[in-house]
Amino acid sequence: MTVQIDLSSKTALVMGVANARSLGWAIAERLLQAGCRVGFSYQGERLRPELEKLTADYPGTWIQQADATNEEDLTALFERVRQEFGQLDILVHSIGFAPRAAMEGRFIDTAPEDWNVALNVSAYTLVSAARHAEPLLTDGASLLSLTFQASQRVVPKYNVMGIAKAALESATRYLAAELGPRGIRVNTLSAGPMRTVAARSIPAFAHLYESAARQSPMNRNATPGEVGDFGLFLLSDLSTGVTGQTLYVDAGASIMTVKMEEEG
Ligand code: NAD
Repeated sequence: MTVQIDLSSKTALVMGVANARSLGWAIAERLLQAGCRVGFSYQGERLRPELEKLTADYPGTWIQQADATNEEDLTALFERVRQEFGQLDILVHSIGFAPRAAMEGRFIDTAPEDWNVALNVSAYTLVSAARHAEPLLTDGASLLSLTFQASQRVVPKYNVMGIAKAALESATRYLAAELGPRGIRVNTLSAGPMRTVAARSIPAFAHLYESAARQSPMNRNATPGEVGDFGLFLLSDLSTGVTGQTLYVDAGASIMTVKMEEEG
């Protein structure tokens, strides 16, 4: 039996591509390669030229500015989805942010306003995007966000972003429960550390990157291409039995506690 992922009859909205290194782009590229029609939203006009360049080779794509925390932007964005596609099969949320101060200091000192910003941008926007999308979502649609294992275990300096990712993972389960009766699935992909713009704001990221590779049973980090492949699977009808889950693409680093040094 030959299994092919053909998304030529499907439509997708991808939120949160900043450049070619973005995990949102790794997933979007796979969707495009599978024939999906894809629209993109980006946070601010500064990011527009980069996204124009990335999508230039893909006829039929469109892009629209939308700050995911801004209700008016979201209303306009999903109105654009309605005009372009009429309905929506796939929604990718690839958005995260915490104020620098909250990641540089001690967790115990997290200021309430920094807490609110991090949880609002990184977790609540999945809920608000799903709410705006709901009337357009087809039965059997698939929603996907990106998380990180600092939600479950302590990653030094990740601080309030760990809390935001825990909220995102929990929101994934609540959304999956509510939207499940229509066959709509909601999952979150937990990626290992990857060198992106957002990663640059994590203090000691280089150390985190090296140590995750050492921790992995495969002695390496997962790649954005692997995130794209697994994202495509979760957004396709090959995964119709999977919802509400946090699924790891981290070359197994999260399963290990202590790793014995290799001999020799
Ligand atoms: P990235 O910087 O390429 O993408 C983050 C995106 O979030 C950017 O496009 C940015 O514009 C967008 N964003 C931030 N605030 C926004 C707002 N208010 N409205 C709309 N968009 C907003 O970095 P990335 O690493 O690809 O991040 C994508 C997702 O992957 C994030 O949720 C991140 O936490 C997650 N993730 C990243 C890693 C990693 O190591 N890079 C690991 C696990 C999970």
